[in-house]
Amino acid sequence: MEIRKRIEQHLNVLCNEIGARPTGSKANQAAVEYVCEEFKRAGLNVLKQEFDCMDWSEGGGTLTIEGQDILTAPAPYSLPCNVQGELVCIHTLEELRITPISGKIVLLCDALAAEPLMPKSFIFWNPEEHKETIALLERGGAQAVLTVSLSPECFVPIIEDGDFEIPCAMVLPGILPLLSSGLSATLSLNTKRRPARAANVLATHGKGKHKICMSAHIDTKPATPGALDNASGVAVLLALAEELSDRELPYQIEFVLFNGEDYYSNPGEMAYLASYLSTPADYVCAFNIDGVGVKGQALAYSFYECSEKLINNLSKLAAEIEGFEQIDPWPQGDHTLFSFSGVPAISVTSSGIFDLVDSVLHSDRDSLELIDTEILESLVKFLLYSI
Ligand SMILES: [Zn+2]
Repeated sequence: MEIRKRIEQHLNVLCNEIGARPTGSKANQAAVEYVCEEFKRAGLNVLKQEFDCMDWSEGGGTLTIEGQDILTAPAPYSLPCNVQGELVCIHTLEELRITPISGKIVLLCDALAAEPLMPKSFIFWNPEEHKETIALLERGGAQAVLTVSLSPECFVPIIEDGDFEIPCAMVLPGILPLLSSGLSATLSLNTKRRPARAANVLATHGKGKHKICMSAHIDTKPATPGALDNASGVAVLLALAEELSDRELPYQIEFVLFNGEDYYSNPGEMAYLASYLSTPADYVCAFNIDGVGVKGQALAYSFYECSEKLINNLSKLAAEIEGFEQIDPWPQGDHTLFSFSGVPAISVTSSGIFDLVDSVLHSDRDSLELIDTEILESLVKFLLYSI
């Protein structure tokens, strides 16, 4: 079967038959089983790297202030609650340091609601002010925390942390004029944290001491089909594995489907980092595929810790395939795992993907209609020529 047809089949299974596949969920396990079977069918050796995580679900929430209903939603991974207390609005870190919040429902606004606060377990980048804000809220004994959404129209969280021990909900900025300290608030959140297991999938082709890694993340945020983010990357790697069948190579090709790029604590990435990436000298280089195949957009590649020779060779190859362009390095995504470890890494995404981050990605709009499978086929060919 031609490459494009197989890519379409994989996309259909991942986005339409399975759908949203957040780490720890049943759907995530189904996606893992599917790719394991497909890699095996292509003749690869397959291994699952399992780890503990949390399966989180929610059934909405209600917020009443002085008897008036206010639109709200639980923050992702929040604890459940049913609490009543005095509202206290906190605008700055200085104010949080000196305000008694025990037994109160704390609303974070202005400077304290300007950017997402990093999860407690996130070690790569976690500013002191973020850590202090979280610690003050937990130690101060607040009953619940409300955060103002980063978007005026929909709920975009500031706190997204399964290790945060205070129930947390979001409100839209439009209701701020109605809220002030001293008002009486009631918050109820219908959520569930359940211990779960999930797994990265590792599939290898060939032998050899050194390896080229091909990675993409298999998980999604909840409630999104995750077409561009990142069923398209997974489908490209499955199609590539099928194309390798009898090819003999001087090194091993290791396919890694990370499970946790869109999960608050990146558990799959951390498991891989602690095991396989503890010997970075084994790697020739790593390609990470995320957000590829946007209709009408070029494929956008960038280099991290790569030698001049590798950059020149790959750039020449990319120039021969229509619709490839080089972009500046960007500091998020799974390619950084490799570059932080000193492994030469190449990220492939779509130019213009960064414009879709707030409007499309992580929402129900990230569906198959956005994808051009011809672009994905040309990426499979590029990767095939690269190795
Ligand atoms: Zn992604």
